[in-house]
Amino acid sequence: MMKLTCNDTLYTYDAYHLLKAFYPDEEIEQQVDEEQESQIRIESDCDSCFCVTLAGEKTELLQMDRGEKKHLAVRSLYEKLCRATKKSLPWGSLTGVRPTKMLMQKLEEGVPDDRILDWITKEHFVSGEKAKLGLDIAKREKRLLSRLDYENGYSLYIGIPFCPTTCSYCSFTSYPISQYLEKTDAYLEALCKELSYIAAVSREKKLNTIYLGGGTPTSLRADQLDRLFTHLEKQFSYEHLLELTVEAGRPDSITREKLKVLKRHGIGRISVNPQTMQQKTLDLVGRRHTVEDVITTFRVARELGFDNINMDLIAGLPGETPEDMEDTLTKVQALGPDSLTVHALAIKRASRLRQEQRSGEGFTGHTASAGDLTAMIDAAYRCAGEMGLVPYYLYRQKNMAGNFENVGYAEVDKAGIYNILIMEEKQSIVAAGAGASTKIVLPKAVEMPGSKKHKMTNLIRIENVKQVDEYIARIDEMIERKGEWLWH
Ligand code: SF4
Repeated sequence: MMKLTCNDTLYTYDAYHLLKAFYPDEEIEQQVDEEQESQIRIESDCDSCFCVTLAGEKTELLQMDRGEKKHLAVRSLYEKLCRATKKSLPWGSLTGVRPTKMLMQKLEEGVPDDRILDWITKEHFVSGEKAKLGLDIAKREKRLLSRLDYENGYSLYIGIPFCPTTCSYCSFTSYPISQYLEKTDAYLEALCKELSYIAAVSREKKLNTIYLGGGTPTSLRADQLDRLFTHLEKQFSYEHLLELTVEAGRPDSITREKLKVLKRHGIGRISVNPQTMQQKTLDLVGRRHTVEDVITTFRVARELGFDNINMDLIAGLPGETPEDMEDTLTKVQALGPDSLTVHALAIKRASRLRQEQRSGEGFTGHTASAGDLTAMIDAAYRCAGEMGLVPYYLYRQKNMAGNFENVGYAEVDKAGIYNILIMEEKQSIVAAGAGASTKIVLPKAVEMPGSKKHKMTNLIRIENVKQVDEYIARIDEMIERKGEWLWH
């Protein structure tokens, strides 16, 4: 057990996540004590306590803005944690999920590459290798996004919150379809109502990308998918559409008939996600499909003419070793997807895996060490390169194994623009469906709604309720919530 005390809420988020990155298995109790002299104080059962106290003249500190103070305190904490544990982290003191966003900002300011690399390695202790990866990706993202009109364009996310079964590591809005079979038509009806509203108020805007995710959209029947896409075509203009993606996802939900519906409606990009090609792991994490299902589904999709297929993999699934990852990559390489997204396992609080761990009933076999994860992620990088895929987007998650990152690799011209948009927050994403979260990027900052401290933001989030029944019952309220901001 560790106890983290900060003298201002300014430090708590970063201090907590840095501590968690260095001590992933420790329970951390956190509190704020405004009387405490040190900015950050850490006490633990076994080690002696240590504090971060910003040095310097009182007046000097008073003149600093809160951002500068936070940066200094986090730097100091990171250095102390490195000394205490004799470890360093690949992403240094960065705790945020979007390291490329900072790099993109520097590129947009016209800062030369060598100065950007120098800044991120010295100011934030990012390793040379990760700094270079991040900068390469930020440059690719910048090129890909140059085709978009940030101010007059927008993207549309549609959430289908059903899956064949629930994977043990899942923390998304997803419900087993077998329990909702009688509600899917009502769900679609509510969804179409929300979409009609979005289309009606967005006539003056250019729709640039559509992403159907969830859950697993192909959990719906073929006729329901047909109904949904027909509705979209009637309601929205596709004149400025650059990308239409369906995260088909689980092979056990995809049929030839459904793929034909997607093809008929012009879906350009789909995902067939194995996560791993090890049957023992698929069984262990509750994905009720086989390795063979992945191969067959992928081949049917190719046969039907899909020429932009993504595959998702997860490094660090329970029981997996670097050898398992090598074997998975060999099998994926034999199929030759057009893009590959490699995640490091993030066990979120809401997942079954975390709950099992907490109750002591969790998996007790091999757990990937930081060294194993490095080997797995390096192998994926190498394999993507051999397939002619280059990294084009990157993000990190909280509670991520080894504090690594998720990277999307793709062939040139086959990168998922929506994936970049969701990370870089440059264009508004209007989201429909249960659990969907709309993000409106405003041209200039406004006071954050509900903020007691008059915090300013140029990003407004509007969340839909997560429960299917509630979403159906409260659809008019979901629409009204959006109306407050769309497009004022
Ligand atoms: S397929 Fe994805 S959304 Fe569905 S249960 Fe598994 S992790 Fe969750």
